[in-house]
Amino acid sequence: MRAPEDQALMENPLLAHQPLPPFAQIRPEHVEPAVRELLAAGRARIGELAAVGEPTFAAVVEPIEELHHRLSRTWSPVSHLNAVLNSEGLRASYNACLPLLSAYQTDLAQSEPLYRAYQLIVERQGASLGAVERRVVEQALRDFRLAGVGLDDERKRRFKTVMLELTQLQAKFEENVLDATNAWSRHVTDENELRGLNEAIVSQAQRRAKERGLTGWLLTLDQPTYVSVVTDAESEPLRRAFYEAWTTRASDCGPSTGRWDNTPVMENILRLRHEAARLLEFPNYAEYALATRMARSVDEVLEFLEELAQSARAAARKEFDELEAFAGRKLSAWDVGFYAEQLQRSRYSISQEELRPYFPLPRVLAGLFEVAERLFDVRIREHDDVPRWHHDVRFFEIESASGAPIGSFYLDAYARPNKRSGAWMDECVGRKQLASGEALPVAYLVCNFLPPGENRPALLTHDDVLTLFHEFGHGLHHLLTRVNYPSLAGINGVAWDAVELPSQFLENYAWHPDVLRRISSHIGTGATLPEAMQAQLMATRSFHAGLQMMRQLEFALFDFKLHAGYDPERGARVAEVLGGVRHEVAVVPVPEWNRFANSFGHIFAGGYAAGYYSYKWAEVLAADAFAAFEESGVFDRGTACRFLESILVRGGSRDPLDAFIEFRGRRPDVRALLKQHGIA
Ligand SMILES: [Zn+2]
Repeated sequence: MRAPEDQALMENPLLAHQPLPPFAQIRPEHVEPAVRELLAAGRARIGELAAVGEPTFAAVVEPIEELHHRLSRTWSPVSHLNAVLNSEGLRASYNACLPLLSAYQTDLAQSEPLYRAYQLIVERQGASLGAVERRVVEQALRDFRLAGVGLDDERKRRFKTVMLELTQLQAKFEENVLDATNAWSRHVTDENELRGLNEAIVSQAQRRAKERGLTGWLLTLDQPTYVSVVTDAESEPLRRAFYEAWTTRASDCGPSTGRWDNTPVMENILRLRHEAARLLEFPNYAEYALATRMARSVDEVLEFLEELAQSARAAARKEFDELEAFAGRKLSAWDVGFYAEQLQRSRYSISQEELRPYFPLPRVLAGLFEVAERLFDVRIREHDDVPRWHHDVRFFEIESASGAPIGSFYLDAYARPNKRSGAWMDECVGRKQLASGEALPVAYLVCNFLPPGENRPALLTHDDVLTLFHEFGHGLHHLLTRVNYPSLAGINGVAWDAVELPSQFLENYAWHPDVLRRISSHIGTGATLPEAMQAQLMATRSFHAGLQMMRQLEFALFDFKLHAGYDPERGARVAEVLGGVRHEVAVVPVPEWNRFANSFGHIFAGGYAAGYYSYKWAEVLAADAFAAFEESGVFDRGTACRFLESILVRGGSRDPLDAFIEFRGRRPDVRALLKQHGIA
């Protein structure tokens, strides 16, 4: 008879060998035992591998790759559910595992016997290894060094503690933002206050009020509602209330002052990142981060951002002056979105809201899939017989034209409570082709669109359409990879400042007339987007391009300077750094109490620390890559094939600059981006 704990482990859905996670069966109490079991087995296996007498790629590296794969596919549904179906129980289980995982990863990366084994493999087998295999080993050696393998024991221990605390603080940051977002709502009883808001938002607010036994309307702080209020609401007090609630989330200001304040969390995150970088003898965290990036130095990044600011500043100033002239008064931060929308409507007789009826989600998806099918010779089909975490989630398989399976993905499209805001693609299962077995890639695509109404599908704005194309571009990068080793397959091992290339590249298609025709179908009449509206929409692409560019540069410079200029004696100086950057690049006035940094999850909780510049960096690559398509025809198969073979299928298996040069025949050129935005 088996001991009861063995029985429990055998029945643990997280440890079951299934091609897809059994979401419906996963309970918070499964998480920690599964992770402990897996880590214990992993440690035992690493011990064996580190002691192999004659280390070879097949005997050591492949099994380590298998361990990465196993752990990441077990943990993936847990961290995913924590983001999209957050609950108290799951949050506790998730948090209990973070220190275990962090300690395991640091121990593995600091293992000197394993490091020596990898070094021996390069020495003995280096010349006979294939290019991809060589890169697996070299990248692993680099990561050993970046985890402090060469440090003395005391520093090693300290590095491990720092990594562990960082993991916990980053999770705390995200929790504070989610809780602050969930906690705030506005109860409206006077219909006049809703003037300007679209029907879908209003009826959702009415449903939410009813659900809570209230009269009138309950507006929550989910992303679609927030965006809709600050763009469309005629009531200035309503816009101001939303702007204030949104930009003071998790801070020492605003409606929930101090309740989920991220200020000390940010301070500690920045202090510990700096300490980790110093332990490895980098001058600061930005330099440490650049060790794995396409950009080579702090100066190169700052010069790049400043060059863009130089190009866009005058355009942005002019746009803002025009906007104030149009409004006939000085504008506050919560007026800008509203008057920009009014100006855009008057200038182009078109608005994001008026576009919604033309973009029902099913039609947009069909058109998006057609783009991918035409470009990359694949087929995408829906399957509804797999386990999902919510009834709104859909599942698709992607296969080659000849019917060979390539991968699959989930789409979780709508905003709902307890779901993190924003949109992202994440790995569910990574691709592997190892002696120990094979797996095809599986992705999660997550968005926060306004949900369907009672008798109609979800209707997207064109901004939403861009978001969907963007995340799908990441998805293609993950799914179309042909790299066999988990550490370099798909988006794994890709330099962070090159990772937004496929996503921003694909956004270009959502602007193309052929594609606009295929993704649009009016909900009432079935008509595609009329040509006149298409032309108007296209004209809006460069609308306020200068202001938007300066805003992105503000975020990027703030992030980069915060990490590059950290001073241990004076602390993070978040407000001071932000103030300096705003002085340099901000065009729109910002109220003193704006605390956007406190909910800036990209850099405090996500992977964009000292890396927000990556959006602009990769946007240059994407615009220049798309220009190659414009030169040869946007559906030209030869060009698409080259893009697929040089960039998409390669994952992290080659240097991003080499890959770009192979595709484009030259180095990236910033002018394509400026031209695209009408700033050149
Ligand atoms: Zn992205």
